[in-house]
Amino acid sequence: ASSAGAPSIRRLSQEVVNRIAAGEVVHRPANAVKEMLENSLDAGATNITITAKGGGLKFLQIQDNGHGIRKEDMGIVCERFTTSKLREFGDLNSIQTYGFRGEALASISHVARLTITTMTRDGPCAFKASYLDGAPVPAGPGGSPGPQPCAGVPGTQITVEDVFYNMPTRLRAFRSPSEEYNRIIEVVTRYAVHCGDRGVAFTCRKHGSSSPDVHSPASKDRRAVVRHLYGAALAKELLDVSGGPGLKPGAAATGPCGSSAGEGAAGSATAAATSDAGDAAAEGTPFAFSGLVSNANYSMKRRVFILFINGRLVDCPPIRKAVEAVFSDYLPKGTHPWVYLRLDLPGDAVDVNVHPTKREVHFLGEDEVVEAVASRVADVLMGANASRSFFAQT
Ligand code: ADP
Ligand code: MG
Repeated sequence: ASSAGAPSIRRLSQEVVNRIAAGEVVHRPANAVKEMLENSLDAGATNITITAKGGGLKFLQIQDNGHGIRKEDMGIVCERFTTSKLREFGDLNSIQTYGFRGEALASISHVARLTITTMTRDGPCAFKASYLDGAPVPAGPGGSPGPQPCAGVPGTQITVEDVFYNMPTRLRAFRSPSEEYNRIIEVVTRYAVHCGDRGVAFTCRKHGSSSPDVHSPASKDRRAVVRHLYGAALAKELLDVSGGPGLKPGAAATGPCGSSAGEGAAGSATAAATSDAGDAAAEGTPFAFSGLVSNANYSMKRRVFILFINGRLVDCPPIRKAVEAVFSDYLPKGTHPWVYLRLDLPGDAVDVNVHPTKREVHFLGEDEVVEAVASRVADVLMGANASRSFFAQT
């Protein structure tokens, strides 16, 4: 082409398309961990163990005791847009699982070597298959690419090796395996807190290490789980918060893993009666929130702000800033509270499909919700503080 002419447009090869898309879903090992954790939770697992080597860049393994994958599905499980969870676009508004796009395993298989060993509860044995670029590959030289029978226990084990082996630039950008490992720990810890009321045990350790770095029991008492994860010093300073007008029964909130409108609404029914947030939002988007926050006695250097909206781990800077602003009246400058909040909204108020990593969630009535959460936190903090000074005086 002459330098003055328009460049010709060519179609990218499917391989390039897939690798680019995969790189958007899996930025770093912690993204892969989140996707695989969610798959385990979707599979009904009550025990999830993560093992990492080299910050997850060399080796990452996740073992669960969920329902497993049928042998017949093992051929397509790593193809893009293959899922057992979503059938119709309209189902997105009522999706009850973390996954729905069938993109995670496919993406991982385009940037790493992936091996699945899985056994269903009624299966005769476990089956194992390795994958590259969305398709099964022979396990060894001369081997067949199909699932191979092997010994195992019901559940699924997924091994991810040499992530970004085919994206050298990205691989070089990772400075420190320990930073990547810390991000993995952060993801696992957040899910452990969120699932802390439904009896799911989480363990995360470095490969070859006998002492886990995250270990939470299969408890249904979230305070007990927080004590295991963060220690007694925080656990004894926690306050309950809840509020919001509640969700109408039947107006199903979306959300995986037991996050249901019923639960949210029931939990907040009393809060709504006593908090003025109820009236303010009466004609707006119905919502319910609940959680645990540290009291004015406790502060930490590192920020821990764990937010799940409709069961999904998300970022919502307006909520975070409003809550932190409430605490700034009480805490030393430069320190942070510890906050865990779950917020439930009607499924059709939230667009879960905004971003490939599903990190960002937009919803209707954001201002009302921010205001209601912040004012409830302020009430709870003030109440706790007032009763403490009252006791201190007597
Ligand atoms: P999605 O979660 O969006 O369906 P994924 O690529 O994450 O897509 O997973 C594809 C499919 O593989 C899932 O729909 C599920 O059927 C199956 N799967 C993945 N991980 C597990 C697991 N740990 N246990 C059981 N099934 C799994
Ligand atoms: Mg998934």
